[in-house]
Amino acid sequence: MCSAALSSQPTASAGIVRVVLDVPLDRQFDYLNPGLDIRLGNRVVVPFAGRQLIAIVMALPEKSEVPANKLKAVLQVFDDVPFDDATLKLLRFCADYYHYPFGQTVLSSLPLRLRQIKPAVSRKMWMYALAQAVPEGLAGKRQLVLARLLTLLQQHSECSEAQLGEVSSGWRKNIQPLLDSGLVSRREVVAIRPSLAASGHEPTLNNEQAHAVKAILDQADRFQPWLLFGVTGSGKTEVYIRLLQAVLAEPRSQALIMVPEINLTPQLEGRFRSRLSQFSLVTLHSHLSESERLQHWQAAQSGEARIVIGTRLSVFTPMPHLKLMILDEEHDSSYKQQDGMRYHARDVALVRAKQCRIPVVLGSATPSLESWYNALGQTAGPAATHKKPSYRLLTLKHRAAAQAQLPRIFCVDTTHSPPEAGLTPQLKQAITLRLQRGEQSLLFINRRGYAPVLHCSACQWLADCRRCSAKVVLHLRQRLLRCHHCGDEQPVPLQCPSCGNADLRPVGQATQRVEETLQQLFPQARVARVDRDTIQGKDALTELLSAVHAGKVDILIGTQMLAKGHDFANLTLVGVLDTDSALYSPDYRASERLFAQLMQVAGRAGRGDKPGEVLIQTAFPQHALFAALQQQDYAEFANSLLQERITLQFPPAAYIAVMKAEAADYALVEQFLTDLTQSAREFVAQHADAFPEKPMIYDPVRPGIARLNRMERGYVMLQCGQRGALQQLLQAAVAWARQHPMQAKIRWVVDVDALEY
Ligand code: ADP
Ligand code: ZN
Ligand code: ZN
Repeated sequence: MCSAALSSQPTASAGIVRVVLDVPLDRQFDYLNPGLDIRLGNRVVVPFAGRQLIAIVMALPEKSEVPANKLKAVLQVFDDVPFDDATLKLLRFCADYYHYPFGQTVLSSLPLRLRQIKPAVSRKMWMYALAQAVPEGLAGKRQLVLARLLTLLQQHSECSEAQLGEVSSGWRKNIQPLLDSGLVSRREVVAIRPSLAASGHEPTLNNEQAHAVKAILDQADRFQPWLLFGVTGSGKTEVYIRLLQAVLAEPRSQALIMVPEINLTPQLEGRFRSRLSQFSLVTLHSHLSESERLQHWQAAQSGEARIVIGTRLSVFTPMPHLKLMILDEEHDSSYKQQDGMRYHARDVALVRAKQCRIPVVLGSATPSLESWYNALGQTAGPAATHKKPSYRLLTLKHRAAAQAQLPRIFCVDTTHSPPEAGLTPQLKQAITLRLQRGEQSLLFINRRGYAPVLHCSACQWLADCRRCSAKVVLHLRQRLLRCHHCGDEQPVPLQCPSCGNADLRPVGQATQRVEETLQQLFPQARVARVDRDTIQGKDALTELLSAVHAGKVDILIGTQMLAKGHDFANLTLVGVLDTDSALYSPDYRASERLFAQLMQVAGRAGRGDKPGEVLIQTAFPQHALFAALQQQDYAEFANSLLQERITLQFPPAAYIAVMKAEAADYALVEQFLTDLTQSAREFVAQHADAFPEKPMIYDPVRPGIARLNRMERGYVMLQCGQRGALQQLLQAAVAWARQHPMQAKIRWVVDVDALEY
């Protein structure tokens, strides 16, 4: 690919080029076309405020409102495939709905390489193959590299550059004469990882699965959201695979599968690759190199990749023949972007499916209350739901593999059996039993580090973060106190900074400390810890998982990283160490999240033919959440939560948006937010007829972490029963904020459908 450079004698009257830029201004900019071949959706380079920036062409109008002598000319146009209308339409919707500048919305959806002033060339990749039989004695005695390359080519029908590169870094030099002589041929490929040979047996679907597949395929030609509600191991993935096989049977059609965090679920990717090996598949996630990301993105955009598996950002990937979208673990909060444009990939996926008129399948064992609400009608749902169901509900009630039983779940009352170093006698006994039987155990604690608090017993001093209003976590091995909010690290003090006492003690449990305890209690056991401190990068986790599968680990201790999607046949015990803080959290979503997490982690036990057992240590065994969990009855629990939300007018029964602001000085934040609430209230009063249901505009408050990274924070919540009315109010509020004189001194953002404040 080449790029057309600025012609030396621009023809001035070639029209106007209207573009968007990656700048925080919500408007488009006009430039002159100096006679370049520019099409809608093209990437161009323009001068802006003394710099050169990448821009995307939105319109090619005849005239501009800016006088021609004030307009600058486009400098360069790249001839890569332009943005298509469908993708731009989706991005337009998001910019409006999330109140984020359109230019930034568009440009941030692109791979980094396309945001740079360079042609989007992905390096050419070739596959090599023998074209003729290798003549005897071709490689001389000393030509070791050549000999090995030939052997490799003889063993495989085709070899990638990476494969040949493993022989020697000098492989290219050796292979060139073979290409010249015609002994070896090569073909250019997009750098898509070759799929594995078809493998994995195809189970006969059970009735529930077959019904789900048929129901969706019967309506594959139209927009319809489906909620596939099935306990862990009920065969949801198998349903996805059948849907993909059917939809992709149509030539050229494409499918997008979204997962919360791809590096945590290498098994899932492997299953898709082996069962759908005839279709080219690319992944899109943060562990790719920039050039891989570009290649994969381009493969999706060109239609060459038939399947894309990606994390939340992949929802914006242009796919010209998109026929099906699947969101696995749709309840997972990592689908929500927490900075920049704060979109929710599930909601964007729904909008996209509607625009493309295709089905979208949301799968979960513990659906988000949003989706649950949308899937329930007046008949099935709680009496107070007056909503018409817009999603269709498909339920898989049983584990699919015949022998696999749902695990039995027990609570251990910590008020009667106090834990020692985090473990109750019952849990210790259960672990001992597993060790005797040669089975595996998994202990779950959602806190990494050694201990959550460092405490002075003399003066009650607690170690705080220097930059945040939060406690720092003790990481003993590195001898550090680390803030899990801002990442700041400080050395562990030798004595109390407040009273000089040298007896500082770690309080509470976290993964490192539990690991230490386990090693002391069970010196013969092989213990492995899994959290963000031990597992960095995709390979580390894959390695650990294969060690578990190979039976090289007896006890796993870890955070929620362990909860997702892994399938360990010999794991029969799950112990949950401490969840009580989440039971009575002020965050109204905490119990929804906790239930999902516990259900998921419980689902790790008894996946094979041995029954599983789950022990939950809690001081509140009577809590309704545990009762529902023991019955594995999410529906019942979700209905009661939903009833509560309806009564309180919380999402999903109402819509919220949060205006967040921060500055070095809280007085500024408070002033700004107070002005905001006032003007928003005035706006509502003045436009009373636009708001049949009056929105709530709350007073400014401070979040749980009031100071983060030296910034003082506050927010205002806006709430309304109607999405449209809330949007109107937000539009006014954002326009107001963009004009506010204090706008330069503070940072503010809007978080529509916020999950956290
Ligand atoms: P989920 O995605 O709901 O957790 P999976 O699709 O991973 O469930 O299925 C769980 C296990 O059951 C897998 O090992 C899978 O191969 C197996 N399985 C799925 N469907 C069937 C079926 N119809 N018959 C037998 N085994 C099945
Ligand atoms: Zn002290
Ligand atoms: Zn901090």
